[in-house]
Amino acid sequence: MSSLIERDRASLWHPYAPASPTLPLWEVEAADGVALRLRDEQGRTHEVLDAMSSWWSVIHGYRNPIMDAAVQRQLTSFSHVMFGGLTHQPAVELAESLLSMVPGEPGRRLERVFLADSGSISVEVALKLAVQFQTATGRPKRQRFLTIRGGYHGDTFAAMGVCDPVDGMHSSFPGLLAANVFAPRPPAAATATPAGIADWQADVERLASQHSDELAAIIVEPLLQGAGGMFTYPAECVRILRTIADHYGLLLILDEIATGFGRTGELFAADHAGVVPDIMCVGKALTGGYLTLAATLCTGDVAKAVSSGRAGALLHGPTFMANPLACAAAIASLGILATGAWREDVERIGTGLAEGLAPASMLDAVADVRTFGAVGVIELRDAVDVTAVTRAAVEHGVWVRPFRNLVYAMPPYISSAEDVGVMTSGMVAAIKEATTQAVLA
Ligand SMILES: *Cc1c(COP(=O)(O)O)cnc(C)c1O
Repeated sequence: MSSLIERDRASLWHPYAPASPTLPLWEVEAADGVALRLRDEQGRTHEVLDAMSSWWSVIHGYRNPIMDAAVQRQLTSFSHVMFGGLTHQPAVELAESLLSMVPGEPGRRLERVFLADSGSISVEVALKLAVQFQTATGRPKRQRFLTIRGGYHGDTFAAMGVCDPVDGMHSSFPGLLAANVFAPRPPAAATATPAGIADWQADVERLASQHSDELAAIIVEPLLQGAGGMFTYPAECVRILRTIADHYGLLLILDEIATGFGRTGELFAADHAGVVPDIMCVGKALTGGYLTLAATLCTGDVAKAVSSGRAGALLHGPTFMANPLACAAAIASLGILATGAWREDVERIGTGLAEGLAPASMLDAVADVRTFGAVGVIELRDAVDVTAVTRAAVEHGVWVRPFRNLVYAMPPYISSAEDVGVMTSGMVAAIKEATTQAVLA
């Protein structure tokens, strides 16, 4: 009988991986709180702390009793029903909760929620909404998008089309991705100067003005670009994008799929900038990492225009739209956030990450160390040896998933100061070992 990992290798795909990956795999035997119990290919078990929150999502930890109870309660009622012609309490309650917590101001308020089944799909819906809005308001030629370089918005085709044109997957699907308009990346938060921001603003304005008759919307991740490079930029730049969007009749789409629900120190990254988008995407931590769910929110103006257009409807409707189990998990997660304890948690974790990762900046292999909210990033000078760093980190009791030249952490909010200490010292030790090995080899 072959091992589970061998059976996996014979039958499954993993994210961005070849069919027979040479990278190591670990079997998850158990997950509880911040901890995972992993079994490696030699059959050894490892207790590790999850510094990734399973890709930003498991903010309240594994087997959280409140989350478990909410999903179990919904399970005894019903697990799924179609959303065409039917509704249910979890969907309505979730929409109301979401709308009550997102950014808003008197002239601009997010008033309507589309429940999608993943982040990428919520981005597809956001892009559709923008194009349908422009068509409905008499500007049918506006079908392209303006974005900044270094972004990541998902893996479906329209979403890929607004990801970074170099680091994204554009070169693999040249004939299939829409030709969008890419502005430079804003200056980095740590080193931005007023003059640098002004230069960047001039570049964006030039592009917006050149292409205004074919642009439907601006789409960006506010303040923190995640999978595109864990890059932070000033809140001022989001305010500039809001002004430019308004000036040229573009909608502003903020993709808060990674940044939403407290991770950056405010409930939404847009709150740092005081900017209200016309369309906003959330996902990842929405269900506390329990089930797959995302949402696209839009203003009343956008909803009204789209609904009165020639199509007379928003043209999207996934089979598992508003899945009740996922909605129940999301309501429970938002309920935990509503206690407000996340703010202290994020602060404690942010402090711990800054202190614990600081020693990494002394290493020759390290180019930069930065933190933002409960996100800590070590940027190496060269591409990470993912296998070496991951293996070494596991030996030191930490689960990380580096990419490109980045080793980073975004721990679950329930992580104690001690947990964060274990994560950071494990990360620093792993980088030290992996980069020394690389030099010796
Ligand atoms: C993860 C992510 C997405 C895609 O979400 P999926 O659920 O993986 O489809 C989109 N935008 C941002 C900013 C993300 O971090």
